[in-house]
Amino acid sequence: MKTTSPIQSNLLGYFLHPFSALRSHGQSNLLGYFVAGLLLVAPLGAQPDQAVQDAIMADALADASAHDFLTRLGDDFGGRLTGAPGNEGALHRTIEELKALGVEARLERFKMPGWVRGQDEVTMLAPLHRPLRVAALSYVQPHEPFEAEVVDIGQGRAEDIAALESPQGKIGLLAPHTSVPRGQYEAAALKAGMRGILWINRVDGGQLLARTGSFTGEPLKIPVYSVTQEEGNWMLRLLRRGQTVRLRMHTRSYCTEIETANIVATFPGRTADTVVVGAHFDSWDLGQGSTDNGLGVAQLYAVAKQLQAHAPQNLRTVELVWFNGEEQGLWGSRIHAPTLKDRPVAAMVNLDMVGFPLSVNALGFDALVPVLERFDASLGERKLRQGVANVNWFGSDHTPYQLEGIPSITFGAHIEPDKVRYYHDLADTIDKVDPRMIPESSATIAALTYFLANVEELPVRRYTRTEMKEIFLKAGLETRMRGVGLWPFDEISAP
Ligand SMILES: [Zn+2]
Repeated sequence: MKTTSPIQSNLLGYFLHPFSALRSHGQSNLLGYFVAGLLLVAPLGAQPDQAVQDAIMADALADASAHDFLTRLGDDFGGRLTGAPGNEGALHRTIEELKALGVEARLERFKMPGWVRGQDEVTMLAPLHRPLRVAALSYVQPHEPFEAEVVDIGQGRAEDIAALESPQGKIGLLAPHTSVPRGQYEAAALKAGMRGILWINRVDGGQLLARTGSFTGEPLKIPVYSVTQEEGNWMLRLLRRGQTVRLRMHTRSYCTEIETANIVATFPGRTADTVVVGAHFDSWDLGQGSTDNGLGVAQLYAVAKQLQAHAPQNLRTVELVWFNGEEQGLWGSRIHAPTLKDRPVAAMVNLDMVGFPLSVNALGFDALVPVLERFDASLGERKLRQGVANVNWFGSDHTPYQLEGIPSITFGAHIEPDKVRYYHDLADTIDKVDPRMIPESSATIAALTYFLANVEELPVRRYTRTEMKEIFLKAGLETRMRGVGLWPFDEISAP
């Protein structure tokens, strides 16, 4: 941590903020500080400084460098599947590119259950011979090749599978919009002696949906694949006409423990209070992970650049974190959030596929709403169209911070449906990212970061486990969280 003179660290520091550039000249400029303070006559509590925030926004809006950085990252390394060489290469490139901005970032190494995609094959043998376009879910395990008939298992509920005539030894075709968790349809299929599952994609156009098979890293007991909607519906039509559909399945993908890393860049503040701004770094391997979540990777880069240029030191410490392992089970944020145990953390901001911002979301933390309303008002002409939202949701990197009782924030945002549809697949590439999206979103995100790092009336406190349980219950998230094994509240008696 940088040391500050006693004078800088107290009241005078508040007066001097707009002249932060002067600070680097050290103690000899104390007189300069004093004069600047007199000229400003800023009352205590005037932070954050509107002029600094406006300059951050203006520069971010005019800056294409984060979009260009993301273009290079995707084109040079492809998808960033955690543990894969492309991910590791992209980690080092990001550190280098931050360094070129004058931002020192470090790798926070950790181990997690990993998964390596192999040359998997699902080939139709009857009624005709052709390979199907498929992608195994992560944590699928290798097996010897086998041939099997296909059977429609509908939504994959236990009763759907129990009603089948002879499911033994067959491959189940699972409906696109099922809400049955993987653990449940897998258990029912295993019980019936089935050998594999093909999950029809909910998006058409030959798209696949790469996704995790297990939030806990537990290997799947039978292979589960995403299959294109067109090929899935074709097989369903054949089955409904009483035809036999026969496939050959050979999975070479495998689970293995991997070592990977988060990237952390810290801007030490005048106090230990901390604001964490995070985005997942990893993506699926089929495309370039440009929208999911190259957007967040680039937005954090833009925030680093603007803080470095305009506000390297603030009231609070700012920690920017690029998380790895999100797609496979929020691994990087589950590692990082508990490391903040003994530190006062004012808020965590999560950036997962934030397109053009429409609202800033307090994620169920009511006490954040007035602060975020003040932030929205400070945006002037760029005020958010939908203002402040307060809707909690589950399944990205804010969740582990919420489980630590840390107030969390994200954005409601717009990405064109004809672009966002490609996420998790081959076509999630930089050409789907509107060149205005990263500058415009980064302007709002960098402004929020600066605002949270300096606003005085931010209640810095940890929510108790009972309070957090209430927040999740109120949002109706218990069933989904239990479905993926993330519900640590059972020992707390109901309030
Ligand atoms: Zn994502």
